[in-house]
Amino acid sequence: MTVPAGRCGDTHLGCPCKGDAGIHAARAAERTAAREQAGQLVECPECGAAGAPLAIVTWGHCRACRTAQSREMYPLRW
Ligand SMILES: [Zn+2]
Ligand SMILES: [Zn+2]
Repeated sequence: MTVPAGRCGDTHLGCPCKGDAGIHAARAAERTAAREQAGQLVECPECGAAGAPLAIVTWGHCRACRTAQSREMYPLRW
C-alpha cells in the first residue's frame, strides 16, 4: 500500500495520518484487525452500547454516536 505525501485515501474514514506512512500503517493494521472481528461487538467508549469494531476503530465510537456527532458538526448537511 502506498500513501501519496500529504494525501490519504482513508481520511474520510477518520485516518489522522495526513500522509505519514507510519501513522497510516498503524491505522490500517487497526482497521484490518477490526474487520477480522466484524462478527463481534465491542463496547462504544462514548455511549457504552455494543457496536461494530470497525466503526469504533474508524470513528472512535459507534454508528449512533457518529450520526449524532456529524449532526452537531455539520448541521447544514442534514
Ligand atoms: Zn491515512
Ligand atoms: Zn456510541
